Amino acid sequence: TTFDVSVRAVSLGQDAGVLVVFQDVTQLEQAGQMRRDFVANVSHELRTPLTALMGFIETLKGPARDDAAARDRFLTIMETEAGRMNRLVRDLLSLSRVEADERMRPTMQVDLGGLIRSTATGMEPLAQDSGVVLNLDLPDAFVMRGDADQLRQVLTNLMENAIKYSGAGATVTVRLSAPDYLAPLRGNGVVLEVQDTGPGMEPRHIPRLTERFYRVDSHRSREKGGTGLGLAIVKHIVNRHRGRLRIESAPGQGSTFKVILPVE
Ligand code: ADP
Repeated sequence: TTFDVSVRAVSLGQDAGVLVVFQDVTQLEQAGQMRRDFVANVSHELRTPLTALMGFIETLKGPARDDAAARDRFLTIMETEAGRMNRLVRDLLSLSRVEADERMRPTMQVDLGGLIRSTATGMEPLAQDSGVVLNLDLPDAFVMRGDADQLRQVLTNLMENAIKYSGAGATVTVRLSAPDYLAPLRGNGVVLEVQDTGPGMEPRHIPRLTERFYRVDSHRSREKGGTGLGLAIVKHIVNRHRGRLRIESAPGQGSTFKVILPVE
């Protein structure tokens, strides 16, 4: 706990005294620290590809100037690094937008079943390239109040993770159901589930997955083009929909990401 302490001399009529004020600033202090950590992380994440880009530009201007093979190789690496910066900036913008929206309840009606089907169709090429089988288990249509673009983003982030971390031979199942156990909740609820047969993870990672830039395996995340922000974005969108995110995973057992959404 952190206190701000201030001491003031006071006089009350004849009496004079000292007033000592203790103010608990723990939360302010923590928020400030989180902001500083975030800025440091963003700077680091941007600087890494930028340093690589600057290095290759120097080499292309100098030693590799007349070496066509080296030039092609370097340009390919530069494209990858520029793509990394591009994705990072895109995710930072998404994050700040969903954070700003978080207090506003969505007002539009969305057909969640249709939205899942069309997102999955768009994801099919990535799944095929990765050797992953996509399975859908959905009702024909399911209409609820929500933000269609944001729910699509939730689904895209969860499916992309499931595909890229599971790899060849795995199955990714997307399920939408309204299980009985949600019925006693205020109104009703629906569960959107993305399940994979990938490597899973140690339970100790689960509570931290939605932290910005938290990665179970940094090397693997970077190699797969991850920014470390995908699940932080998911968490904010789920909060805005007054929903909950539940993650179940164990090494060798695959992972299941469940988004539980209230339906009025
Ligand atoms: P990233 O851009 O690194 O994928 P995310 O916020 O989307 O960032 O995910 C955070 C981390 O959680 C990932 O780096 C990865 O280690 C882990 N992760 C997410 N989804 C899965 C999954 N389906 N299977 C295994 N690990 C996962």
